[in-house]
Amino acid sequence: MKVLSVNAGSSSLKFQMYEMPQEEVLISGVFERIGIDGSFYSLKINGKKIKKEKVLKDHDMAVSVLIDELLANNVVESLEDIKAVGHRVVHGGDKYSDSVVIDDDVLNTIVGLSDLAPLHNPANVIGIKAFFNKIPNAIAVAVFDTAFHQTIEKEEFLSSGPIEWYENHKVRKYSFHGTSHKYITERMKSILNKKEVNLITCHLGNGASISAIKGGQSKDSTMGFTPNAGLIMGTRSGDFDFTIIPYIMEVENKTLEEVLNDLNKKSGLLGISGISSDSRDIEEEFLNNEKNAVLAQNMYVKRIVAYIAKYFVFLKEVDAITFSGGIGENSSITRKMILDELEALNIKVDKVSNEKREDEFLISSKESKVDCYVIKTDEEVMIAKETYDLTK
Ligand code: ADP
Repeated sequence: MKVLSVNAGSSSLKFQMYEMPQEEVLISGVFERIGIDGSFYSLKINGKKIKKEKVLKDHDMAVSVLIDELLANNVVESLEDIKAVGHRVVHGGDKYSDSVVIDDDVLNTIVGLSDLAPLHNPANVIGIKAFFNKIPNAIAVAVFDTAFHQTIEKEEFLSSGPIEWYENHKVRKYSFHGTSHKYITERMKSILNKKEVNLITCHLGNGASISAIKGGQSKDSTMGFTPNAGLIMGTRSGDFDFTIIPYIMEVENKTLEEVLNDLNKKSGLLGISGISSDSRDIEEEFLNNEKNAVLAQNMYVKRIVAYIAKYFVFLKEVDAITFSGGIGENSSITRKMILDELEALNIKVDKVSNEKREDEFLISSKESKVDCYVIKTDEEVMIAKETYDLTK
């Protein structure tokens, strides 16, 4: 069965088409600068990459082009071949703890949750509607970034503000990257050959979060009401003393919006180092001993270590610590720095294994109290799987 996995942003649309249940990628691609001058798309098929410039007025047009390409490349014979489309949806609030087939009610709920995710849910809805318009017969499924974290219990998900904020306005931790943490959990169940895994899963990309997984369920995670909580990220501050906000508004004569923009877009690795939000640049300058890069890298690592230590105590027993996301999968320096800092927990890195470049590998030594792995995440296949399961 052919299933599309879709991630729609406000001006982009990424997709993969899978033959399910084999999980074979038939074609993948991304449409960029939709609705903006200079729009283009790129496709990958049979190992070949194609890039084409094309005016893409809106998402409907991008989906039309996508369908034309599927037909032209003989990926499908007719539109009827596309049985299901799985959409990444960032916010499912506290309503969805699983993926769900999208009907009018679900669509309205996703729209209604836009207050909680103003940058993401409206874009996801545009994507959903574009596919509904072009291929109304395909089953549409919403796969929520928040769903996997709905097993987090109240003591962990409540903020420490007045309880009325939760009762009246649903202010609480939702946490994100759930599809990735779930994929890693499923992989680790298989690797460890265990149904009930206890894990600390570190998703370290541009955005970053760590989850505490108990018995295969998310029981805590570092992101919060929004993605700007927890770890230091590429441009986000992560955990932050909120009283700095009115102070900076006053002394820098800035609006609330400007300060929030600083915390979202000009903080984290970029803000501390003044160099870049890209960990490759930070790493390069760290190795050159550039003082702000050293500071940013050390702070980045320490925040991760603090959360791993917290979750270690929280879980009591940990089968494995995993690293994924662009930094987790690629930066052996960052991984080694983290694991070296965890010496007090008798965790030990294997320096040689840590330098490997594979999709899944062990990086801790035989003496390590906890096994540590690099697991390449695959949110797209997870979306395809969840979607396929709902067609049965
Ligand atoms: P996103 O959250 O946008 O999906 P990714 O998971 O792609 O982000 O991660 C992006 C981050 O991964 C960037 O900071 C990038 O520098 C980092 N990264 C990618 N490759 C490497 C590498 N070889 N070494 C160090 N960092 C890397």
